[in-house]
Amino acid sequence: MQDSDVIVIGSGIGGLCAAGLLARYGKRVIVCESHTIAGGAAHSFKRRGFEFDSGPSFYCGLTDAQSLNPVKQVLDVLGESLQVISYNPLGHYHFPEGSFPVYSDAEEYRHEVHKITPQGAKEVQRFQERLLGLYEAMKGVPTLALRADWQLLLVLLGRYLPSLGKMLFNLPIIQASVGSVMDATVQDPWVRRLIDLECFLLSGLKAEGTIAPEVAFMLGERSRTAGRSPSRVGVEYPLGGSKAIVNALVRGLQRWGGELRLGCHVEQILVASGKAVGVKLRTSEILKAPVIISNATIWDTYKHLLLPEDLPTAYRQAALDTPAVESFMHLHLGIRAEGLKNLTGHHVVVHDSSQDITTAGNTCMISIPSVWDATLAPEGYHVVHAYTLEPFTGWERNDQYEQKKREKAQSLYRALEQIIPDIRQRVELELIGTPLTHAHYLRRYQGTYGPAIAAGKGMFPGSQTPIKGLYRVGDSTMPGIGVPAAAASGILCANTLVSVSQMLELL
Ligand SMILES: Cc1cc2nc3c(=O)[nH]c(=O)nc-3n(C[C@H](O)[C@H](O)[C@H](O)COP(=O)(O)OP(=O)(O)OC[C@H]3O[C@@H](n4cnc5c(N)ncnc54)[C@H](O)[C@@H]3O)c2cc1C
Repeated sequence: MQDSDVIVIGSGIGGLCAAGLLARYGKRVIVCESHTIAGGAAHSFKRRGFEFDSGPSFYCGLTDAQSLNPVKQVLDVLGESLQVISYNPLGHYHFPEGSFPVYSDAEEYRHEVHKITPQGAKEVQRFQERLLGLYEAMKGVPTLALRADWQLLLVLLGRYLPSLGKMLFNLPIIQASVGSVMDATVQDPWVRRLIDLECFLLSGLKAEGTIAPEVAFMLGERSRTAGRSPSRVGVEYPLGGSKAIVNALVRGLQRWGGELRLGCHVEQILVASGKAVGVKLRTSEILKAPVIISNATIWDTYKHLLLPEDLPTAYRQAALDTPAVESFMHLHLGIRAEGLKNLTGHHVVVHDSSQDITTAGNTCMISIPSVWDATLAPEGYHVVHAYTLEPFTGWERNDQYEQKKREKAQSLYRALEQIIPDIRQRVELELIGTPLTHAHYLRRYQGTYGPAIAAGKGMFPGSQTPIKGLYRVGDSTMPGIGVPAAAASGILCANTLVSVSQMLELL
């Protein structure tokens, strides 16, 4: 007596992509989401008329058929689409010595670097060429054609042989870190710091720890301007905010018969004779299915959702020992907008060049999406989201909590003052989030950004687990952190659960 063919724990991007695709393949799918809002790190929430993104706001290739973005590929097969606004420059980086506009197009980007360091601009070109070459090779095989078992070979050999050749040619760089590509091409210290910053924004690690395909994907996707009008660039913001992406995935899931249950916390994955057989909800209800997919993090899945004896001891310990990127301080503000006519949407502020960019509070990310989509704030107002890394350790809801929270938010306010000098006088609504807030609303172990698995020091684990019928998706599985990567993990898992002929039919 099964309740469905597949139960997915969590409606993050990875969970929704796996669930939607499996529903599209004809499986009966139930998604159990603990929160009352779907989307995980990508969910949006509303307070007093302000619509806030809880996390991501930087997106590429959500609407272009030529895009490699796995989210776009999943939306296509689910019959969904998004309305977006393209913008350029994609952001401004503010260093103590000056600001730098970041253009999507590779040539425009170099032009700006040239103003600061002409020699550095030449080196950037060599760096870009190496990584854009890899992006070109990656273009030949859509993520939708991938699966995480040996049958991948059948798909690739049968359908993508020429592209496979290109990929094999790029094999050394596929496995390389961005640091090694940078060492081979860039000596200029300013440019090296710029590359470190861009890697950190993507993976939570600097160039040395970031894998080359991740940055190749980012550079390739954001610079896909060739042959398109200058206003149509690869960088896009979804109208309605991040929730527009989540809603489209949920609609797609439901269109193909899948079910999403909100406020449905899974307490335990039930295992019998080494096989996953169902889940137990917080309400004590039991749902049965032969396949369970956990979108919870590696730490949450193995520590909280399974009993220690369900997993081989050494495997469990190694998984729980996976290093984690820190959590965050968040500042969500509703501000008065008068006089802010030339405000732009994305900023990264580095406070102190003598400190490492990964130091808590030193690098602050700012997103003001209402400059692109005025519906996110009441008329005459903007929504602001600023965040910076902050360790989870040391945070407790005790008597000092409120004061510590205010103190820690100061680095975010100081960053915002560089963009909007009188920001403090403009605040209409203020929400300060700590690592505890992040861990609570995102249901993530220690509120982490994700695993800190450095290139060359390990690989993100795949979707399979030692328990038959139990799979994992999301940003603590291959290929890693970020909305496109989490979507790719969902595709890899879903495809592995169907036959090659079903995949080929969909492709
Ligand atoms: C501040 C911030 C900014 C970011 N900016 C960007 C960006 O600009 N661009 C980009 O591409 N990426 C960005 N990212 C990264 C990206 O948002 C994440 O990597 C991605 O959304 C994670 O998706 P996921 O599939 O791992 O699921 P998660 O987002 O982790 O969602 C997992 C879901 O599972 C649910 N869940 C967990 N346990 C249970 C349980 N026991 N029962 C039921 N449900 C459960 C949770 O409630 C949650 O909804 C950002 C992340 C953060 C935090």
